[in-house]
Amino acid sequence: MDQAKAKQEINSLREDLNKYNYKYYVLDQPSVSDAIYDQKMQSLRQLEEQFPQFITSDSPTQRVGGEALDAFEKVQHQVPMLSLSNAFNESDLRDFDRRVKDGLGVERVMYVCELKIDGLAVSLRYENGLFTQGATRGDGTTGEDITSNLRTIRSIPLRIKETDTIEVRGEAFMPQKSFLALNEAKEENGEDPFANPRNAAAGSLRQLNPKIAAKRNLDIFLYAVGQWESGTLTAHSERLHYLSTLGFKTNPEWQKCATIDEVINYVNEWVTKRTNLHYEIDGIVIKVDQLAYQDQLGTTAKSPRWAIAYKFPAEEAITKLHDIELSVGRTGVVTPTAVLDPVKVAGTTVQRASLHNEDLIHEKDIRMNDTVVIKKAGDIIPEVVRVMIDERDGTEKPYHMPSQCPACSSELVRLEEEVALRCINPNCPAQVKEGLTHFVSRNAMNIDGLGEKVIEQLFEANLVKSIADIYQLKRDELLPLERMGEKSVDNLLQAIEVSKSNSLERLLFGLGIRFVGSKAAKTLAIHFETMDQLEQASYDELVAVKEIGDKMADSIVRYFSEEEVKELLHDLKALNLNMTYLGLKPKTEELNDSPFYEKTIVLTGKMKELTRPEAKEKIELLGGKVTGSVSKKTSLVIAGEDAGSKLDKANNLGITTWDEQQLIDALKEKNETN
Ligand code: NAD
Repeated sequence: MDQAKAKQEINSLREDLNKYNYKYYVLDQPSVSDAIYDQKMQSLRQLEEQFPQFITSDSPTQRVGGEALDAFEKVQHQVPMLSLSNAFNESDLRDFDRRVKDGLGVERVMYVCELKIDGLAVSLRYENGLFTQGATRGDGTTGEDITSNLRTIRSIPLRIKETDTIEVRGEAFMPQKSFLALNEAKEENGEDPFANPRNAAAGSLRQLNPKIAAKRNLDIFLYAVGQWESGTLTAHSERLHYLSTLGFKTNPEWQKCATIDEVINYVNEWVTKRTNLHYEIDGIVIKVDQLAYQDQLGTTAKSPRWAIAYKFPAEEAITKLHDIELSVGRTGVVTPTAVLDPVKVAGTTVQRASLHNEDLIHEKDIRMNDTVVIKKAGDIIPEVVRVMIDERDGTEKPYHMPSQCPACSSELVRLEEEVALRCINPNCPAQVKEGLTHFVSRNAMNIDGLGEKVIEQLFEANLVKSIADIYQLKRDELLPLERMGEKSVDNLLQAIEVSKSNSLERLLFGLGIRFVGSKAAKTLAIHFETMDQLEQASYDELVAVKEIGDKMADSIVRYFSEEEVKELLHDLKALNLNMTYLGLKPKTEELNDSPFYEKTIVLTGKMKELTRPEAKEKIELLGGKVTGSVSKKTSLVIAGEDAGSKLDKANNLGITTWDEQQLIDALKEKNETN
């Protein structure tokens, strides 16, 4: 990048960051996610490192937080309240360790790791043992006097045993439960909800009326000492102990680490463990323990050199969309996918993201060459959340879906009430391949060794064009194919043979009848027992089955009336595929007084005696419905060992919870009474 371009880019990043800072720190209403803020800040920092001639003292990289609001009295911090520099990965942490050791000229340093509470930094001043003043961090030098609001936080002691003037610092935060309740109430009153617990806490403490703060159930963890004339302790860890003996609430999860490897282990542990907490954390703070070492290392204008904040992997990122590709699914639906400049999100590199359908592209006004925000939550496929309209430079082009199928060129149609475009050519090669891949997949016929790639290979070699072909594959046809050794061919044929005896529901699901998912396939298999009986079932007989709706019944009747389907089933029978339900069958009378009947149940944590699928099956046979997430509709949560956020949520919502033993007892009792 040349100087002129760098300067332009730096100015544009500063302008954006200043805008975001104002909304976040002054108005407590962020306009972008933290991930995006951090990404832009990192880009700015990198550019300033490359072109140091452009660093100015008012750059967002050099400043702490936001300014104090005029509505409050101002407080001058005797010891500045600084920000923290950030680490985003293991190598950043190792660099920090090296910098610390080089700076001190030593080989060993003790660190203290603490959870980085996502709240608002505050300072509490005690004189003669009395709480006299509480302030926000503000710009680090000048904060806002929010004493009356802080006095409403019950965990802040109003009197302590230390008579020397001492200023204690910590993070005021809003526990998740209070946050959920607050936002629910706000929505009921037609008000805008808070974006996250951090902004809710800041917004509550920066109210002029302390009665509002009092209602918000805020809490606080103290983690540092500011001004303290007669302090004699020599380590940060000793101060943490002392703070708790004085009656301050400190976070219990802090840990001393003698090496950077121990620090990295602690960090990695909390990446997963953090979901179990009842408050939010956005990272881990690592501090040099020895106070003498802290003094020796000192601070920059913005942050101490003896501490660093590791930020958990972000789930959102900004990148460029440079193409839209189309794929044709098993049911002929044509799905657009965004092709992106590679970008790191939640620890992995993302290059493609789902755009779902044409309506959504237009609703979000996504154009070719747009700068977009993408999101990846957990293991869900990344999606384009929105466009950064401000980043447009005129080169962006609106996108229109083609009128022909990208795989077979037949005319695409839009069925009534559907947003999706479909290819309705039953011989469309893309659909046929997808259908075959579905048939062999884990929840369907579960044929090991027959993945998407092998299906593609068999299809291209003209060996498999329909489901029945799979069961007619011959050893000597397969052997000449690439990557097909003797052993893999034998294993594959064996797996195909084994799949013939699958219980009916697997075959039913594998056939890919529209609207028939794996759960409905099981219900149908249990009810009708054989393929023949299902094939003959009328619409009325189908809708009479619990959980089979009219759309599904209609689709099943239509499916079995097709000539091609009749032929396929005839062939499969001739090839010896099992067409009968082989699993357990619930007896209707058992459902009477079943503790699970018509209940919605969530299983969580590790089970010792039962596996999760076993527990699920037993509950379902007794009329219960097992779902994945806890909501107000959940009737019962069964928690094994190390249950996490689902159990917390159940407790918060007042839902009945059982442990594994209670489940086993209930199942036993049921078996004994029937
Ligand atoms: P920071 O949040 O990265 O780290 C410093 C702060 O961590 C401290 O001031 C303190 O409040 C807090 N902290 C929590 N637990 C701590 C502990 N145990 N020990 C020490 N400190 C602890 O820095 P910052 O300057 O407060 O804020 C910058 C961050 O805020 C950004 O990285 C971004 O994530 C977010 N931000 C977002 C927007 C937005 O628009 N979304 C705007 C501005 C800032």
